[in-house]
Amino acid sequence: MKKIKIEDTLSLKNDGKLEIVFIGSGTAFSETLGNNNIIIIKGDTHILVDFGLTAPFALKPVTGLDILDLENILPTHSHSDHIGGLEYLTLKNRYFGQPKGKPRLTMIIPDEYKTVLWDESLKGGLRYNELGKNEGEMTFESYFDYVTPDVTNENGRIKHHINFKGIDLEFFHTNHIPGQAVRTEDAFITYGLLIDGKVFFSGDTKFDKELLDEYASKSDYLFHDCSFFPNPVHADIESLRTLPEELRKKIVLMHYGDDYENHDYSDFHSLAVPGVRYIFD
Ligand SMILES: [Zn+2]
Repeated sequence: MKKIKIEDTLSLKNDGKLEIVFIGSGTAFSETLGNNNIIIIKGDTHILVDFGLTAPFALKPVTGLDILDLENILPTHSHSDHIGGLEYLTLKNRYFGQPKGKPRLTMIIPDEYKTVLWDESLKGGLRYNELGKNEGEMTFESYFDYVTPDVTNENGRIKHHINFKGIDLEFFHTNHIPGQAVRTEDAFITYGLLIDGKVFFSGDTKFDKELLDEYASKSDYLFHDCSFFPNPVHADIESLRTLPEELRKKIVLMHYGDDYENHDYSDFHSLAVPGVRYIFD
């Protein structure tokens, strides 16, 4: 993995190597690190994974990009640090992008989550901006083109798969919320990703040994959320510390607290840093 600091403006195209850039790397309550949202880039394709409430105003300072440069979005779950900027992104694209010929946003979203995202989060702000085709209301389809990954595993942990314009994505359910859910099957829909068959992105999850056992050997690197204190809905650093050293050295911690300088994380690969291009061979 090569790390290159963005000098001026991040290019959303590269020579074909998988690349990941963090717009922010903090917890939902971080005041200095921004929401833990990333951009995946490979060849001519880019995918924004999550766009939280800090993202509309962090994007330019961190990456140099304009919000209208973004074309494809993959939301992992409905917490505000992951989708809090999505209404802004959607309306900006529709009323500032589309009039200039920019296409609608493309969303990569499993069927099971599409209705949840619209009905429980986006609809309130997006439904009545124009008269839509459907009884005067705007719908999910009014705003987004979308692609639906295939369900690949219906027994045990639910998974979905899609190759989106050259970027291979395996979605897996994580056990993030509620805090009381012991098994992934009892948790609400939240996703992590295996990106291009080699980079693990936990999304938000409790410590999940079974998940890590499955993906450890498949992954060249693992980006894992990390709480510095015991936390009912996130993996904490002491739990991650129970993993074998060989695995810990492949784990880049993300979604961490503002007080990271007061903690020792030297037994892991590193902390994810916003504005750095992580490039994988
Ligand atoms: Zn969350």
